[in-house]
Amino acid sequence: MVGRDRILVVGGGPVGSTAAWLLALAGIPVTLIEAEEGVQIDYRASTFHPPTLDLFEESGITGALLDRGLKCPVWQFRDRREGRIAEFDLGAISDETSYPFRLQCEQFKLVEWLYGRLAADGNAEILFRHRVTGVSQGDDGVTVSCDTPAGPVEIAGSWLIAADGGRSTVRRELGIAFEGFTHPEHFLVAGTQYDFRAHMPDICSVNYTADPVEWFLLLEIPDMWRVVVPVETTVGPDDAITDRHLQNALQNLLPREGDYPILVRAIYRVSQRVARTYRKGRAFLAGDAAHINNPLGGMGLNGGLHDALGLCGRLARVWHGDAGEAELDGYEAQRRPEAVNAINAITERNKKLMEERDPEVRQRNLDEMRAIAADPRRAREFMLNAAMITSLRRSGMLGTTTV
Ligand SMILES: Cc1cc2nc3c(=O)[nH]c(=O)nc-3n(C[C@H](O)[C@H](O)[C@H](O)COP(=O)(O)OP(=O)(O)OC[C@H]3O[C@@H](n4cnc5c(N)ncnc54)[C@H](O)[C@@H]3O)c2cc1C
Repeated sequence: MVGRDRILVVGGGPVGSTAAWLLALAGIPVTLIEAEEGVQIDYRASTFHPPTLDLFEESGITGALLDRGLKCPVWQFRDRREGRIAEFDLGAISDETSYPFRLQCEQFKLVEWLYGRLAADGNAEILFRHRVTGVSQGDDGVTVSCDTPAGPVEIAGSWLIAADGGRSTVRRELGIAFEGFTHPEHFLVAGTQYDFRAHMPDICSVNYTADPVEWFLLLEIPDMWRVVVPVETTVGPDDAITDRHLQNALQNLLPREGDYPILVRAIYRVSQRVARTYRKGRAFLAGDAAHINNPLGGMGLNGGLHDALGLCGRLARVWHGDAGEAELDGYEAQRRPEAVNAINAITERNKKLMEERDPEVRQRNLDEMRAIAADPRRAREFMLNAAMITSLRRSGMLGTTTV
């Protein structure tokens, strides 16, 4: 019966690999289809929020992240001129989560772990160097066309999860609009082992620093510090990533004699977009294929992992015959409002807060952040929101680990 055939997952990034792992754990045969030939080492997500760690305990993902990551219980909102404005200690919400910290761990380390688990699992197969180019579907199955080194192939399954990233081919093939906008500026990421803490003694591991000219995000990850800064729209991406530009950005952040040692550099275009619908027939969108946002707040991948959990739980119930197909309608109803009203809204608000240029509004913002941090009730509410707990509760996901 085709309806109980394997489930296809397109895209072996963190969201697709997680979805494949959740399905394999639920006893469902799954094929993960990835265009590249192995793990993509890139320096995008590193922040995992407390409820993500709560929700993924059962799957083993939380344990893998804890083994590889850095626990950061405290984070700061700062101003480039005035220094520390507000500090938030997640210990204050330890009654809401077993993990009252942000865990800093590069996303490729999670993918590496997942590929290892999937390779060893009898329910799962990973097809590398398979680039999906087309999708077709009928009443009880879905087929993808792929380009492979051995020529084109077709792969059939019962359902399809498209986790093939922000430029999703599957989303395009399904004709689903990706509504929203792209920011004019790029974001530049630099990684260095320079010991910022020795020279900026009042920082902590996660520091958001507002500035009307050049805000910056300074993040500690297990092997280095990561700096994210905006690039003026007059500077092209190729120029932005040169040594000279990177050194200038770091010297602006903290002047020092001599160059910074730079281990990692990357440049990203940043958008706020959400797919018009998360489902077409037997195909579903998840992760960046469904929603993308700026990284200020560390919510994109967390949200994508929450998509995978919500969707795979439903698919597992339907696949095993424990629920009818109407169960699957709940996925979009649960996850799309979260992308629009929480993930995109909060990250966009964070960006405005960081870059505000009007001196009066800027001063009001700083005063407001100080007032929030100084009031335990408001600080708690703020942290629950920033840690995605409020919105996950609203959507009914917390406390419902479903696979
Ligand atoms: C600078 C930066 C920092 C960030 N920091 C954070 C953070 O701290 N916390 C957070 O939660 N989020 C963060 N994000 C967002 C996060 O990186 C993304 O949300 C996350 O990578 C999405 O994962 P994904 O698996 O959906 O997509 P991707 O990681 O883009 O993976 C998509 C996969 O699909 C494959 N693929 C693409 N097309 C095809 C095809 N046609 N056929 C087969 N395979 C295909 C690709 O090769 C890739 O492996 C950050 C983003 C940026 C740019």
